[in-house]
Amino acid sequence: MNFSLYLITFVFGTIVGSFFNVCISRLPAGASVIFPASHCPSCQQRLSPLDLVPVLSFFLLRGRCRYCQAKISARYPLVEMVTGFLFVGLVLAFPVDKAALSFVFNVIFVSFLILITFIDLEQQLIPDVLILTGFLAAASFYGLKFAWNLPRLDYGFLLWPLFGTVAGYGTMFLVRFIGGIFYKKEVLGEGDVFLAAMIGAFLGWQKVLLSLFLAYLIAAVIALVLLLLKKVNLQSLVPFGPALAVGALVMIFWGEQLISCYLRFIFY
Ligand SMILES: [Zn+2]
Repeated sequence: MNFSLYLITFVFGTIVGSFFNVCISRLPAGASVIFPASHCPSCQQRLSPLDLVPVLSFFLLRGRCRYCQAKISARYPLVEMVTGFLFVGLVLAFPVDKAALSFVFNVIFVSFLILITFIDLEQQLIPDVLILTGFLAAASFYGLKFAWNLPRLDYGFLLWPLFGTVAGYGTMFLVRFIGGIFYKKEVLGEGDVFLAAMIGAFLGWQKVLLSLFLAYLIAAVIALVLLLLKKVNLQSLVPFGPALAVGALVMIFWGEQLISCYLRFIFY
């Protein structure tokens, strides 16, 4: 029974998630994610370790600051739980004893997706520093994996992230270009185009194309629901980054199966 492994992974994920919360609050402003120590944004009181227990503190404090009673955003426990559950999912999908390198690679990839999703939802922007470090992480992974399996992999392997980047960037660039002609305004942010390129560097060209397709489906469904609920109108710009991230997540966990289904559908 691996229950204790999953529990430890979940707790570890929530702790990492609480660091992500600091990054989500500070990165868009270009502030340091290390100094100063965590403090309440309303009363500036420095928080004690007891206020910083992932998930639990939020519920024990009933979502309010212990010192000034200001409301704490539900984003804090949400990011912690999402990170915990996704890390457990990764342990299940990429067993550390058999696929250690893929596990580490996907933990890093998922971490970028979580940060970008919540920053885009809150600020409608995707920090360049995340896109650039994401590219660097993907390139180092493919380099490492190539060196690791040197006799078995040929140099073509090193082109995978490059093809993925071109496929992600190219598709989104076209959508942005054609959409601009039809709607006479920006239909996609520049950040979304670069995010798709970064996702391509991680996933390779096949999976990134399918992930973009899924992202458009997800975005269309969400936009339709929001329109019906009258939360947005046709002129609103809804952040697309989170849909791209969810499309990529689906490909991380079920990409191989989806591609083989897709190929069978085409060729039989
Ligand atoms: Zn406070």
